[in-house]
Amino acid sequence: MELLLIWIAFGVVCAIIASSRGRSSGGWFVLGAIAGVFALIVLLALPSQSLAGASQEAIGNSAQKKCPRCAELVKAEALVCRFCGYEFQGNGSMRMEPRGNGMRAER
Ligand SMILES: [Zn+2]
Repeated sequence: MELLLIWIAFGVVCAIIASSRGRSSGGWFVLGAIAGVFALIVLLALPSQSLAGASQEAIGNSAQKKCPRCAELVKAEALVCRFCGYEFQGNGSMRMEPRGNGMRAER
């Protein structure tokens, strides 16, 4: 009976480590319960998935935004694009500009 508890404990530990590394916690709970310490060793040997992908995503999503006019990345807090001078709307003031003059074809 105690042995069973140890397997479950391995499953829980594997699930916690797996979720902290951006992996499936449910799958690693089962794997940890079945393979015990071996699953734990494999999990620790595997490279973390969350570090490479998630941190880059965070930079792309929150810290920067794409200028709709020149498609360059500028800071999310910026009100004016530093590349082309485009003024961002919706950062505080939600007024809608009438779209009529901007339809001229840019050569
Ligand atoms: Zn721009």
